[in-house]
Amino acid sequence: MPDESRPRHARVVIVGSGPAGLTAAIYTARANLKPVVVGGVPAGGQLMITTDVENFPGFPEGIQGPELVERIRQQAVRFGTEFIDDQVTSVDFSRRPFRLKLGSRGALEADSVILATGANARWLDLPSEQKLRGHGVSACATCDGFFFRGKELALVGGGDSAMEEALFLTRFATRVTILHRRSTLRASKIMADRALKHPKISFRFDTVVEEVLGDQTVEGVRLRNVRSGESAVLPVQGLFIAIGYDPATDVFRGHVELEPNGYVKTHQVTRTSVEGVFAAGDVYDHRYRQAVSAAGFGCMAAIDAERWLEEQDSAAEKPPATR
Ligand code: NAP
Repeated sequence: MPDESRPRHARVVIVGSGPAGLTAAIYTARANLKPVVVGGVPAGGQLMITTDVENFPGFPEGIQGPELVERIRQQAVRFGTEFIDDQVTSVDFSRRPFRLKLGSRGALEADSVILATGANARWLDLPSEQKLRGHGVSACATCDGFFFRGKELALVGGGDSAMEEALFLTRFATRVTILHRRSTLRASKIMADRALKHPKISFRFDTVVEEVLGDQTVEGVRLRNVRSGESAVLPVQGLFIAIGYDPATDVFRGHVELEPNGYVKTHQVTRTSVEGVFAAGDVYDHRYRQAVSAAGFGCMAAIDAERWLEEQDSAAEKPPATR
């Protein structure tokens, strides 16, 4: 008789549903491993808050981030992937099969696990920024840009995300001032050039935000020039933060080895410190961080998991050695 108290068992559980997790699902599903994807809430990862994806191969005209996610998801469903719209709240990788607790739907047991939880937007961590989050302060231009039609905006950051978000915001805002803490941009040349040439975008270099001004909504930002030490107030009605990401690894802390910066530590590309647990995408990759590289890592993690499971099965089937 089946043990009713035991959680449902899966050969592979994939945690996360961005391009890494979904690609891992396609590959493990096609290997007949019947993967279960615990997609996270909200599901889909960073692509869900990305507009034009112009560099994903196969889409010469570009594609919207959410549509790309949906297409990869449909491809995974086609081969038999099961999706659970929930979060993993804790894991136990010290026992076999592994166990993963879910937010509201019990738990799962898994012979192997692929970690693909990605990374989350960073904040400046100013009290005034936290107070006005959702009231004029945002880390997602795609989600909130629409609310700033006809407004003047500031945006913090000097990387590709900052350029992309600022360019997107010009669809709504009358002016976007990019505030960057150094005098040179980190962004790729093509993205930087687009922003630098845009008539609605201006830059303030060597500049940090000291305070977000306003009581109920954003009325301005108090800035400091890090070279001269001078302070200035820039009147704006919205502030966007685009300063990078932190890996979503809190739930795995203490269960797999992490790098000092919080990313999952891997060896032989996708293997974590626990045999049978693999990682894919931004949860460990802080170098490339592209949708296409995340998808590539998802493929690699899936193939590694499949081969590892095969090795475990053959070892279990081997007759005991005779003298
Ligand atoms: P990033 O490249 O790490 O850039 C983060 C930026 O924020 C840097 O300019 C950094 O300044 C600044 N910053 C970090 N912490 C800060 C703080 N506390 N206060 C003020 N400024 C701060 O991150 P990203 O722009 O999110 O890009 C991540 C990766 O995704 C990159 O590989 C990028 O190429 C890729 N990406 C590509 C596209 C695209 O191709 N369409 C779009 C988005 C992202 P410093 O420069 O001084 O460190």
